[in-house]
Amino acid sequence: MNATAREWLRQRARPHRRWLWLSAAGSLIAAGATIGVAGIIAQAVYQALFAPERLDWAAVLAAGLVLIVLRYSAQGLRDLAGQRLAHAVKGRLRGELLHRAREAGPARLAAQATTGEWIERFQARGEDLTGYYARYLPALQAVILIPLAILITVFWLDWLAGLLLLFAAPLIPAFMAIVGMGAEQIHRQQQAEQDRLAGHFLDRIRALDWLRRARAIEATQSEVVERSHHQRRLTMRTLRVAFLSSAVMEFFSAVAIGMVAIYVGFALFGALDYGPAAELTLFTGLFVLLLAPEYFLPLRQFAQSYHDRAGALAAAEALAPLTAPAEHPAASAAPAIEPPETDPTGAMLALEAVSLRYPGQDALALPRTTLTVEPGESIAITGPSGAGKSTLLALCAGFLQPDEGRVRRHGDAQSFVWIGQQAHLFHGTLRENLQLARREPLSDEEMGSALAQAGLPLTAAELPDGLDTAIGEQRRGLSGGQAQRVALARGLLSGYRLWLLDEPTSALDADTEHALLDTLFGLAREHGLTLVVATHHTTVQARCQRTVNLVGDRDA
Ligand code: ADP
Ligand code: MG
Repeated sequence: MNATAREWLRQRARPHRRWLWLSAAGSLIAAGATIGVAGIIAQAVYQALFAPERLDWAAVLAAGLVLIVLRYSAQGLRDLAGQRLAHAVKGRLRGELLHRAREAGPARLAAQATTGEWIERFQARGEDLTGYYARYLPALQAVILIPLAILITVFWLDWLAGLLLLFAAPLIPAFMAIVGMGAEQIHRQQQAEQDRLAGHFLDRIRALDWLRRARAIEATQSEVVERSHHQRRLTMRTLRVAFLSSAVMEFFSAVAIGMVAIYVGFALFGALDYGPAAELTLFTGLFVLLLAPEYFLPLRQFAQSYHDRAGALAAAEALAPLTAPAEHPAASAAPAIEPPETDPTGAMLALEAVSLRYPGQDALALPRTTLTVEPGESIAITGPSGAGKSTLLALCAGFLQPDEGRVRRHGDAQSFVWIGQQAHLFHGTLRENLQLARREPLSDEEMGSALAQAGLPLTAAELPDGLDTAIGEQRRGLSGGQAQRVALARGLLSGYRLWLLDEPTSALDADTEHALLDTLFGLAREHGLTLVVATHHTTVQARCQRTVNLVGDRDA
């Protein structure tokens, strides 16, 4: 499972490979500049001591300065390329997730994940990937390219010192791996807990109103506090391991640099006369010594970004199934909302012996049902709770595909108005909420007229600022009936002829229900709308031309 996550991460970068090339180039240029600076310093010190007359301070300073600027610019280039890569990968990923969400359609989507989980996927999980592409991958390139460049230089200067560095290098990753394996495990746990906490918290916030009324705030509070403490303990464990691993890292690189220093020192004293040690000069010794810390530096940086890799792997495991191409059409949870077969002449909608079973359920959610909806007709779908009314509407809408049978629809039925129990109004002005009905800008006159027809004229006391009246997410300032009237106005503005309504009045009291139904059926007559209304209210049923009764208890 780890291997697939790794492969997934690698594949994500593939379309944006040019940023990887750029960051590799940055690493190489930085390595070259670093070697150059070390060489210049060693040379300058050597000349200052043994040949001061040949030393040109101005040239040394100028060259050193240029190389230092070059080194930091190249590092900047590498960082920039990493950031751009992360940005590109995340952008594409979000696009894919959105596409997936749209493919799944509202009916399946609600069953698949809570709002909190969706936010986690889009926001936090996406952010976890940043570290991998922006820091880990460039650090991985650097940890190969820079020590290699330095090693080649040192071998050319003095092969014994080169051998020392070569043998010291694997020590560090080896010890890192031992510590790192535990770290990854803990990190994964911490990630999973964080996700759960975020989703949990968000769902509680969304239900705040309800919790307050149910007097459950205190119980929720202590629950959230307990979970946060758990989360804190996990985070501290992750940090302890991270500190331990960097201490291990520092220790071994210090030891290795010390070994090189001892070698250079003994060789300069003439205490070693084996191989190149005998010919070691102050220039080569200093050069090698200056390069030794630079040799270990990328390894240390790599160790830091190893943490990013663990986070990204955990994120990849969560995200990979969401972006995987559906391999087995039968097993894929969400067939696209392919436009169902159109029937240009006949009925508005025709459901022919459709039936549907939700994945993992034994019983059919909707047993074999045949239904023809003629243009301008009004049909009540009745039946006890759980009989499949909402499922039938979702089939009409194309949110779900039937397991058996087929759905045919008129050209006019491709787009429709959907009204549920409670109007979904967004935080914003009334104008913004109505504008959602159509792509092109709507005039104030159109909006005012639609509102008046829906029984909520702009002169109403509840709309003090007319179209600019602010509406909260919780429909602040509007009663349930008025919110439904806004939904009616939005439906009218859309111009669609097919209206699918799922228990539109079940949240209203009897008087409000009657008034709203008067308006709804009046509009339907006037504009020739086709209504399909799921309801268990006889008041709705009485006004419809036809009733389809779904029977509740049945066998699978
Ligand atoms: P109604 O709207 O008439 O109350 P539904 O169409 O919502 O009925 O549900 C019909 C049956 O399908 C019920 O038994 C319900 O438990 C089941 N069901 C509804 N939605 C889902 C879902 N997303 N996943 C699994 N089962 C579901
Ligand atoms: Mg229902």
